[in-house]
Parts: sequence; structure tokens; C-alpha cells
Amino acid sequence: MELSNEEIRRYSRHLILPEVGLAGQKRIKATSVLCIGAGGLGSPIAMYLAAAGIGRLGLVDFDTVDFSNLQRQIIHGTEDVGRPKSESARDTIRSINPNVEVTLHGVRLSSENALDIVRQYDIVVDGTDNFPTRYLTNDACVLLKKPNVYGSIFRFEGQASVFAPHLGGPCYRCLFPEPPPPGMVPSCAEGGVLGVLPGIIGCIQATEILKLAIGKGTTLINRLSLFNALDMKFREVKLRRDPKCPICGDHPTIKELIDYDQFCGIPAEPVNPGVHPDEVTVQDMKKALTTPSLNIKVVDVREPDEFEIARVTGTLLMPLSTLPQKFTDLDPNQQYYLSCKAGVRSMKALLFLREQGFKYLKSVKGGISAWSDEIDPSVPKY
Ligand SMILES: [Zn+2]
Repeated sequence: MELSNEEIRRYSRHLILPEVGLAGQKRIKATSVLCIGAGGLGSPIAMYLAAAGIGRLGLVDFDTVDFSNLQRQIIHGTEDVGRPKSESARDTIRSINPNVEVTLHGVRLSSENALDIVRQYDIVVDGTDNFPTRYLTNDACVLLKKPNVYGSIFRFEGQASVFAPHLGGPCYRCLFPEPPPPGMVPSCAEGGVLGVLPGIIGCIQATEILKLAIGKGTTLINRLSLFNALDMKFREVKLRRDPKCPICGDHPTIKELIDYDQFCGIPAEPVNPGVHPDEVTVQDMKKALTTPSLNIKVVDVREPDEFEIARVTGTLLMPLSTLPQKFTDLDPNQQYYLSCKAGVRSMKALLFLREQGFKYLKSVKGGISAWSDEIDPSVPKY
């Protein structure tokens, strides 16, 4: 592997670092990395690896760019809204460094395709935002003995590590043997995230990848780095491989990829995605609001900050977080439609109120986002 004169100029600040040098830069060029997700974490990871001269970069993402992504997913621009993220990311990478070979995998990573995709790369970097894909990524990496450079973010906090049982450390399952119950840990879409946070965690992941490529320094193998942006504090937790781990332990029971949706307790997509018996549509909600004789009250269970951003006239605000104290203000014999942003929290509120003896409850499918899409586009989506 040789570097052209153009590459020597481009990477000169690397080449004069004794720890990198010509040999290290050639190793970076010889390295292939699979980036799972071209979103918040994937953006800085892919951009910095491209700038650093990584040889080949694979991108797995089946999503398209949304306006609400732009606050943190800096690999995409305003004019990319609506485009496939993998294609938008590829164009940015090409403009940063045309020497990088980009391979697009515009699919959802699944038990069927993960081994075939992961096999083609030296290092895998986890930029996913959901538990089934995170366990899938972990298991595929352990089975194929690929380092898995892990990062995750939520609100103001993030964490990063390098999982590589074949290099002596633990895997993601050693740390988190069981996924949280579905709905217990809110996603960034539900809970929010500071836009710069994936930049910090993604840059830690990119740093670890470059260190693995050049074989210098001390990586995060056996360590979990925890970052809090509000306090501007880093902490570190020592990690150990769990000899009882079902995939990297001494007597592994998982020898091939499993059904990760099922493992994480996520019900399979219904063949006929109709309306759940406990749900009504936003059309039903509109009818309830415009037809007083139906005597249906619509309760919005979002937080006050969200209510301030977007609301539907005629709804009553009672945040889910205050429901255990405030539900006695409601009438257990009254018919209520419960609404939130997307229909997840309203279902939680429904289950809670039903336990308290409320009889006539429905959750509004799709929440205020669906209301904005289907009833009144002047209600902003956030
Ligand atoms: Zn393990």
C-alpha cells in the first residue's frame, strides 16, 4: 500500500506524529470500518474517519433525512431532507475525502443479513438508537471476532466503550445481559438529546477506531467511559468479561443470531396494521372534540413544555409524570381519549388509569404528530 503525493500532503499532520507516521497512515488506509447508522453518532464518526483517510467505510442505514435530524446529524444538510441518509452521507464523505471508498447498505440490519455485511469489515462501530440492533450488532461482532466500538446517547449523557472479547475484553451482553422492558427507556425522539452530545461521543468512537487501526495507545477495551454534558464530567467504570455471558462466556449458549425484536420484547409488526382495540384514530379525536354530545374528553398527557410547542384546542393537559398525583381530578366514569406525541405515553397513561378503575379509555394512535399529518398541518411537528 502506497500513498500518493496528494495523500502525503493531505495527511501531513498525521505523518509528522511519531505514533502515526507513514506506517500508521498506511494502516489507516488499509482499514475498513462498518458504521451502523448514519445519524447522530454516525455523522461525526463517518466524517472524521473520512478526513483521517480510512480506506473503506460501509454505511448501514435505511432511513431518510428528516428536518428534526438536522439539529445533530451534521453529515446531512437542509437540502438533504427527504433523501436516503446513506446517500446523503456518502456525498458528504466524498466532498471531505474522495480517496475513501464508500459502500452503502441501504437496509435495516437484520439477523438474516448482519453476518454477511459485518464479515466484509475490520472494525464495526455502533451508532444505533435501538436495543434490538445493538444486541444484534454485538452478537454478530462476537461471532465474527470483530471489535465493536460502542457509543450511546440520551439527553445530556453519553457512554462509550470498545467491546472485543477476542482481544480480552467483555461484550455488550456482559455489561447489559437483559434489555430493558420495551418502553422503559425513552428514545431520543421521546426524551430529547442535546445536539452536540453525539458529536462528543461519536468523536470518542472515531478516536478509538483510529487507535485500533494504528495499534497505538490504550483503547476503551475493559472500560466504560461515561460523560455528562450538564456537569461537563467524564467518569470511568472498569469492565470485566462475564464468564457466564451467553455469547462470549466460557460456555456460550448463543452460537448464531437470534430474533432480536423478540429478545427485546418488541411485538412483531402486525400483518394487518389496523387500530388496536384500546386505540382510536386522530379522526375519532377530531369527532370527539367537535361533537360535544358524544361527551368524550381529550386529555393530553405530554409535558407542559411540549404543550407549549404544539397543542390541539379543546384538550386538557395532564402530564403522564403527574398522573399518579392528579388522576383523582378525573372522573372514572367519564369517557376519555388520551393523547401524547406519538401514542406511546398515552397508552402508558391508559394502562395506569385502567388500574385505578377508569372504565372508558382510548389512546389516540399516532398522537399529535398524526394530528399534524392528517388533520391540521398548522400544528407544528417537533
Ligand atoms: Zn459477553
